[in-house]
Amino acid sequence: MKVFLSVDMEGISGIVDNTYINPDAGVNYQRGRQFMTDDANAVIEAAIEAGATEILVADSHNTMNNILWESLHPKAQLLAGSPRDCSMVHGLDDSFDAALFIGYHTRQGVPGVLSHTMSGVIRNLTINGRLVGEFGFNAIYAGLYHVPVVMVSGDDLVAKEARELVPDIATAVVKKAVSRTAAHCLSRGEATAELKKQTKLALSKAKQIAPVQTAMPLEMGIQFSHTGQAEMAAIVPGSRYETETGTVYYTAHDPHDMYKTMRAMLNLASEAEFF
Ligand SMILES: [Zn+2]
Repeated sequence: MKVFLSVDMEGISGIVDNTYINPDAGVNYQRGRQFMTDDANAVIEAAIEAGATEILVADSHNTMNNILWESLHPKAQLLAGSPRDCSMVHGLDDSFDAALFIGYHTRQGVPGVLSHTMSGVIRNLTINGRLVGEFGFNAIYAGLYHVPVVMVSGDDLVAKEARELVPDIATAVVKKAVSRTAAHCLSRGEATAELKKQTKLALSKAKQIAPVQTAMPLEMGIQFSHTGQAEMAAIVPGSRYETETGTVYYTAHDPHDMYKTMRAMLNLASEAEFF
């Protein structure tokens, strides 16, 4: 059984605010890296016990150089660094039997620890009109390769967001959101135990969990925080700018193309200054 782990940072056990996830401003960043590696190792260990023979871990936060490679489980390989065409799910294809999204968070504009979608410029992201966050976007991408997302870990609210798209998904809730930058965290030992328990459950029922059912072409819509960002994103050839809502639409015919276009739009939009 071949397993893909996409590991973000905001939903990792013990992490509650920016000080743990930002290498420049974070007094707790080195601890955050350790927590992230610990969560990944708990999942890898349980996955191997559940029959995984090949495990690829994609570091999926910021510059994607957070996981401590030297401390990662010896049976797992690491995809690190950026840029990567398909960012958080780069390398995920139809050769995988299951994907697990670890340390994930809720989408922009809703409650949850460190909620956001991809970067600060997105107000709303839709696929065929359906609002998605990072979980949804990446789960749809996985679905295009017929790979089921069988587990998510993070706070209680991302677990709920994930179940709305994948009703049978296993959820490892390692903290309860108190506000966007506060959480009631399980202890280290409890979080590790929950991650292992849910990983085993997820992989034991992996064949019963359906991949997200979608097919190309898909229409992606990105509503930006301000119109200057939308105008920059609309430089992308083939896009359509809806001025009334500040949304830029793009119809993708290929999963890679969809992911790369989203990233190109965000990079362009980040060039727009508000003042
Ligand atoms: Zn992140």
